[in-house]
Amino acid sequence: MKRIALFPGSFDPITRGHESIVLRALPLFEKIIIAIGVNEQKDAFFPLKKRKAWIEQVFAPYPKVEVTTYGGLTVDLCRKLDAKFILRGLRTSADFEFERSIGQMNKKMYPELETVFLLTTPEHTALNSYIVRDIIRHGGDATPFIPDALDITAYLP
Ligand code: ADP
Repeated sequence: MKRIALFPGSFDPITRGHESIVLRALPLFEKIIIAIGVNEQKDAFFPLKKRKAWIEQVFAPYPKVEVTTYGGLTVDLCRKLDAKFILRGLRTSADFEFERSIGQMNKKMYPELETVFLLTTPEHTALNSYIVRDIIRHGGDATPFIPDALDITAYLP
């Protein structure tokens, strides 16, 4: 069995926190599929195409990493792609409470699936896409928070 992990999220935009989780998970899996979820009830700040292109650019040097987009249930995508693992990052106890219910529900719907959590590195604990969006929206410098591979000028919405 090939160990395939799905890393789902909005990635609006991808941050150094996301990048770090994927890079640290590389030795654990044969393939990591970063899956950008499309939420019909929630408008994203950056267009889906841009979010996908940025992730592809960041992980271009890593052939194990693929990027896709999806709507609907994450477990359905896992089944379709034969991914038996969901990868998630844990920053705080609030993340844990949120992730626990999703992880337990996903397991109920797809018993062969395991959710694997990596603890955030301390320097990324306070980082989230919402803050990065706010910095960009107000003309601040988000460079320290986004992956090195990305050109900050490309972040103007
Ligand atoms: P969601 O919309 O599901 O919250 P995000 O795009 O915000 O998705 O995050 C996707 C995954 O990346 C989640 O597991 C989240 O915990 C993790 N993550 C987000 N920010 C960080 C960070 N700064 N450090 C580590 N993991 C993070």
